[in-house]
Amino acid sequence: MSRPPKLQYTEDACHGLENKDLQKNLKNLQNRFGKGAMTYWASLDDPQRRDRAKKQRMRTLENLDVALSMLATNIEKAGGHVYFAKTAEDAVNYTLRVARKNEVETVVKGKSMTSAEIGLDEALEKNDIEVVETDLGEYIVQLAEDEPSHIIAPCIHLDRQKIGRLFAEKLDIEYTDDPPTLTQAARTALRQKMLNADMGITGCNIACAATGKISLVSNEGNIRMATTMPRVHLALMGIERVAATMTEHQELLQLLTRGASLQKLSTYVSFAGGSKLADDPDGPKEFHLVVIDNGRSAILADEEFREVLTCIRCGACLNICPVYGRIGGHAYHSPYPGPIGAVVTPLLRGINKYADLCKGETLCGACLDICPVKNDLPRMLLALRRKLAYGDKKWQTRVHKPLEKWTFKLWRLLIANGPLYRLMLRCGYQLQKPFVTKEGMISKMIGPGSKWTRDRDLQPLAGESFSKRWKNRHSRRNRKSSEVGHG
Ligand code: SF4
Repeated sequence: MSRPPKLQYTEDACHGLENKDLQKNLKNLQNRFGKGAMTYWASLDDPQRRDRAKKQRMRTLENLDVALSMLATNIEKAGGHVYFAKTAEDAVNYTLRVARKNEVETVVKGKSMTSAEIGLDEALEKNDIEVVETDLGEYIVQLAEDEPSHIIAPCIHLDRQKIGRLFAEKLDIEYTDDPPTLTQAARTALRQKMLNADMGITGCNIACAATGKISLVSNEGNIRMATTMPRVHLALMGIERVAATMTEHQELLQLLTRGASLQKLSTYVSFAGGSKLADDPDGPKEFHLVVIDNGRSAILADEEFREVLTCIRCGACLNICPVYGRIGGHAYHSPYPGPIGAVVTPLLRGINKYADLCKGETLCGACLDICPVKNDLPRMLLALRRKLAYGDKKWQTRVHKPLEKWTFKLWRLLIANGPLYRLMLRCGYQLQKPFVTKEGMISKMIGPGSKWTRDRDLQPLAGESFSKRWKNRHSRRNRKSSEVGHG
């Protein structure tokens, strides 16, 4: 399913709301993982743990150049190669160069949102390189020619009946909706691909500067195979995904798996950071780490938004967000859906272009409560909205809706002038009459107001203002009590 060129947040959100299967799946996801994580954080025997992790993340970000250079030195000492890519294009071109040099025909991938961010799969396929996703959810999405809709549960929008039909068609097996049988079918198909692959491409959950190792968590064992069986392993990471010390690294890994899937630690934790040594039984002959900026330096340089880089992509904020929980992930048009996507996508890809994302969230604060590193997304959502309301040179943000701006200026003038305000209410009351339905609501306005009633009804203006009703009510009461007194 290729995405339409124009962003259709509202339309896609409506599709999500109308999709009954999606609603059921999202409800189950949020009931289990969202509530589970909140209960878990509430019962932590060390309540300061998340605050400490956050402080440590901020400290590392403030010294990011030092951490990254230490990481690169340690990886190079172990025989690996490190490439700093300024843009998505740089990262793609470097990967293609490595692939060509090694005569790569097939790539097996471990889940990597960064590769989706830079459009790597398309570039590899254009160069006649077969790309196979090995994470089960990603593999399903790839077979369906669809797009992921959750950070760690990419096929949450598909139910097992749909997956059963898909496997029957694409893997040529008999239809079944039995999860273990479906998983076995995927394993059989993927194992062959793993054995024949020339190159493994993965993301990186968290890299450790002090040890020069990148860590990858998984529950399926696919990462271990994708990083050790092919001749070449290339890992992609954003510049921010580095911990300075082993203690920070360990702390973040534990918070990551707890936030993501309520696990103390995932079933597999793989460490990579160099080429195979002479006495190693397996491992890649070449190891490459591509450290991608692609707009992150601008975020790092801005004190208002730097905090968003503390994110460890656990997906917990999606599991609690009332907006994501209804519309699903496709409406966000980004590898990063949900509340984290509503902040980071506009910052990486343009605030004006992705304006709907930050405006669509409710600011309920649940994402902050659930986040393992207490990323204050609600504060940053508001900051983004401010940029849209007033414009911002640094972020090249123009005033998103100039008409809205002038409307509010006019509104401010009106409400500061009592007689004018009351006159306007009286006029509005008369003018609205043709639009009020039998049910007492306005369901269709004209002009700029039509956008409001396209998605919701509007309560009409009351015939009498609140202050007038209040006054009348009190004067009635006073009259009554004086009558009783006289009686
Ligand atoms: S913002 Fe927090 S909860 Fe959301 S993905 Fe990032 S680390 Fe997880």
